[in-house]
Amino acid sequence: MSQLTESAAPLVELGEARRMVLERTPVLGSVGVPIGEALGMVLAEEVVAPEPVPAEDNSAMDGYAVRAADIAGASAERPAVLRVAGESRAGAPHRFHPLPRYRGAKGGNDADGRLPVGSAIAISTGAVAPAGADAVVPVEMTARRNGAVEVLGEVPIGANVRRAGEDIRPGERVLAPGRRIGPAELGALALAARAKVECARRPRVGIAITGDELIRPHEPMRPGAVRDANSFTVPALAAQAGAEVASLEHAPDSPGATRDALAKALEADVTVICGGVSVGRHDLVRSALAELGVEEVFWRVAVRPGKPVFFGVLAGGGIVFGLPGNPVSAMVTFLLFARPALLWMQGQDPWPRTVEAVFGCGYAKKRGRAEAVRCRLDEDRGRWIAVPTKEQGSHVLTSMLGAEGLAILPADLTEIRAGEPVAVELLPGALA
Ligand code: AMP
Ligand code: MG
Repeated sequence: MSQLTESAAPLVELGEARRMVLERTPVLGSVGVPIGEALGMVLAEEVVAPEPVPAEDNSAMDGYAVRAADIAGASAERPAVLRVAGESRAGAPHRFHPLPRYRGAKGGNDADGRLPVGSAIAISTGAVAPAGADAVVPVEMTARRNGAVEVLGEVPIGANVRRAGEDIRPGERVLAPGRRIGPAELGALALAARAKVECARRPRVGIAITGDELIRPHEPMRPGAVRDANSFTVPALAAQAGAEVASLEHAPDSPGATRDALAKALEADVTVICGGVSVGRHDLVRSALAELGVEEVFWRVAVRPGKPVFFGVLAGGGIVFGLPGNPVSAMVTFLLFARPALLWMQGQDPWPRTVEAVFGCGYAKKRGRAEAVRCRLDEDRGRWIAVPTKEQGSHVLTSMLGAEGLAILPADLTEIRAGEPVAVELLPGALA
């Protein structure tokens, strides 16, 4: 096919292209991971709690564990006086030992192993409430008198006592597969007595950045040079999607160098190439990929930014994205195509959360391509207003700064007016 006829070929519709990606994306297997290393990974198993949390009834306050009936009607004027039978501290519970077997045992004793009537146990926050106690009086409501405590008011049964299993019941499903592990999930795993957990293997991503013109941040500017942003944004986007960056290659625009860099990047579950995928004379990526055995699934999607985006597959199950080099196009196409694939591989819901918003201004677009407009989201009387961050050129990387979502304007639209509805795909971490 000549370049001209290829360029005239119809573009793949955005939603269809995204479905085509997932259809060809494999789900990876799982690995056992110590929970200290599981942050950012996706759970591949159901986590069931083996024991109640808290394990035993315990105190929510520093104070005295009592029988509520013993202090009924107590007031500052007529305090209830209770004998202090011992102390329960965090990690050192006070146990009453039933008579006669444990007569004289440390910690006190009682005929039925429970807090005796007319007694109290000094208790600290989190310490186990002794059997028989049914309420805790905060220390502020008491006065200590030698071996006794005066209780200056009453509290109802259950006051300031956290019940065993109140947080997690034994046998309860705490976490479901497909859930990404954040700080709270790590805590829940620890509570569920899990030192190790089965997680989806992190997808390995090989990245190749193409372009003769690109220079690194530390290099002095020279005529014709462009600072390479994608070497930083793309690995960061991959890591944010739970992937492991297996390689990062840089290729000048020569067929041999492009092929070498791509060959290395293809040694991965997912290959992401930036630049060189358009129709220019120096866009060498598609032909190099064909030579390297990558089967093209689609090239060119009806979306702005990102029209030249390429997707292909390798016989061994690897998937390959060719993203346009413009920094916004690279980020947006990663988010639209590569991120869902990475999530899917890990068994996670691949699609971003979408909010219904109204557009914040008038905006004209070309018919025939959907447009992903970088927006921040303002709340106004219970509605979200999607406001473009700034000028939307695919080279204006600062339009990604402060963006909370991509407002997806449908292909057939030629304009949207302020106040008209629009679906906004949230960027990772937005409104979290
Ligand atoms: P390409 O997709 O290779 O045709 O590149 C399109 C535009 O994006 C050109 O202006 C490139 O200079 C620019 N570009 C390509 N790669 C990068 C990159 N890694 N960082 C910043 N700009 C880039
Ligand atoms: Mg280029």
